[in-house]
Amino acid sequence: RVIGGSVASPQEDVLERALRPKDLDTYVGQTKAREQLEIFIRAAKNRSEALDHVLLFGPPGLGKTTLSHIVANELGVNLRQTSGPVLEKPKDLAAILTNLERNDVLFIDEIHRLSPVVEEILYPALEDYQIDIMIGEGPAARSIKLDLQPFTLVGATTRAGMLTNPLRDRFGIVARLEFYTSEELTRIVTRSAGLLGAPIDAEGALEVARRSRGTPRIANRLLRRVRDYAEVKGSGRITREMADLALAMLDVDPLGFDVMDRKLLDAIIHRFDGGPVGLDNVAAAIGEERDTIEDVIEPYLIQQGFLQRTPRGRIATAQAFRHFGLTPPSDNVQ
Ligand code: ADP
Repeated sequence: RVIGGSVASPQEDVLERALRPKDLDTYVGQTKAREQLEIFIRAAKNRSEALDHVLLFGPPGLGKTTLSHIVANELGVNLRQTSGPVLEKPKDLAAILTNLERNDVLFIDEIHRLSPVVEEILYPALEDYQIDIMIGEGPAARSIKLDLQPFTLVGATTRAGMLTNPLRDRFGIVARLEFYTSEELTRIVTRSAGLLGAPIDAEGALEVARRSRGTPRIANRLLRRVRDYAEVKGSGRITREMADLALAMLDVDPLGFDVMDRKLLDAIIHRFDGGPVGLDNVAAAIGEERDTIEDVIEPYLIQQGFLQRTPRGRIATAQAFRHFGLTPPSDNVQ
């Protein structure tokens, strides 16, 4: 599994799960999404009904999976978890749907990658809690309707624009997750350090937070690396200086950009004169998948004002030029 540009080991997966907040109160930030969910969850619970279907979108590592677990937990129901690419055939999804208990939550990650035939059986399930399944084969085949228990689908995707319209229309609650502020990430890092039993200064936590690309998953991953560094090279205490040395070693620059961020900006600046350049050309130049560039690398660079997506292609901003110690082309035009 690719996490912010590096592959997580199974042990890191376990740690990541251990750091997951379990309820809305400990879920940091995302005020808008949290407020909405709080109200709708309470209303659904009071009426003993299934919560309306929820679509969560935003870049990887911002807390979509975590939020789906919290929704199930707050509703007091079971969570079933799967993902778009795993559901190859309609019967894969039918098996899961028919096993759901009343008001359960079904979480489908990467829901934009559902195959059209699987998506087709999801529509009546979402709308009427019913599915049509085929029994038998050839001329004897017939379709029968099965009733399902009421349930809540929580779908997660990196880009809402990649969903088909009929699927998107079936979500009553749509929440976009935003990058976290340094202050929010500092709270997350401090909490995680506490859970890991790692001593940390307020300034150490802020340094890790500031350089985590606005993303809790990256903050937790960097925290673990900085902890290793502080244990081996220092007294074990995570200070600002320890964090700075460890992050420099990890090639995370003072703004939190990693190797891939810099590679992308560097290519646009040096090989395409700052752009505009098409996505395919950039992808070929840096040897990275289009999807990874669009979903993982670009959103943060855009949010930070280092990159622009225009109809004619990608452009490196004046800020990006200055970050590399270069004079932006616009400064030469008098
Ligand atoms: P996504 O599903 O969007 O890729 P995850 O839900 O897997 O992201 O989150 C990645 C990690 O970041 C989780 O293990 C969790 O520890 C942490 N995390 C995410 N959101 C929050 C939050 N709001 N508060 C605290 N920790 C969070």
